[in-house]
Amino acid sequence: MTEVSVTKEDAVASGELVVLRSVNKHFGALHVLQDIDLTIDRGEVVVVIGPSGSGKSTLCRTINRLETIDEGAITIDGKPLPQEGKALARLRADVGMVFQSFNLFAHKTVLENVMLGQIKVRRVDKKKAEEKARALLDRVGVGTQAEKYPAQLSGGQQQRVAIARALAMDPKVMLFDEPTSALDPEMINEVLEVMQQLARDGMTMIVVTHEMGFARSAANRVVFMADGRIVEEAAPDQFFSNPRSDRAKDFLSKIL
Ligand code: ADP
Ligand code: MG
Repeated sequence: MTEVSVTKEDAVASGELVVLRSVNKHFGALHVLQDIDLTIDRGEVVVVIGPSGSGKSTLCRTINRLETIDEGAITIDGKPLPQEGKALARLRADVGMVFQSFNLFAHKTVLENVMLGQIKVRRVDKKKAEEKARALLDRVGVGTQAEKYPAQLSGGQQQRVAIARALAMDPKVMLFDEPTSALDPEMINEVLEVMQQLARDGMTMIVVTHEMGFARSAANRVVFMADGRIVEEAAPDQFFSNPRSDRAKDFLSKIL
């Protein structure tokens, strides 16, 4: 007879990838994250929306530990966030992050930007790193720009390079913090399309954005934050057509 047992590994492999439990954070007197409970499953795309100052960026930054938390727990793939050192560097590599400001290394070529982390953190040899970088640059549609410097690219191209750079680390989850907010309008779609494709390919994604079209079409779930709390969580259709909270109704009336 074959014994069937469900190990912890099975449970992790089947579902939860990012888990926040009762997370609290203060900036001095400001209680910026208040009792945040949030679970993101493997392959899930969660869009986080909410007014400016509600804590969305801080939430992202705690997930890859650019910010510490005061209380609660965060686990990635079943492992608690390490405090520092090499374990933290590895964890950061598991969590790809794309910011509003593209944050590329200005003095490195596009290709070097996408190779660097692979070599330094993942210890990939140079040839493999270059192959992978070129493949990823092709994938995000900037393969022909590989030898240029970031300043020679448009904002939309730079942001796609930033996405390729994050993907080069084989992250388990990708965090996007308003990735199109600094872009000229005509460049927003080329970045959203790359993100859409990533979502279709099954990447687990947490996306802070004001692009409600993206939320409607790509998100499995919308998380609405206000004043450091998760006020409402729902499927996009439900959230946009029938928000429950007054805060969400008010917010949507201003942006839609
Ligand atoms: P959002 O991304 O939703 O606009 P943030 O997470 O950036 O919100 O900020 C939430 C609140 O925390 C804001 O009031 C902001 O001014 C404050 N805040 C953010 N970062 C810091 C910091 N490093 N020190 C002090 N206050 C901060
Ligand atoms: Mg923000």
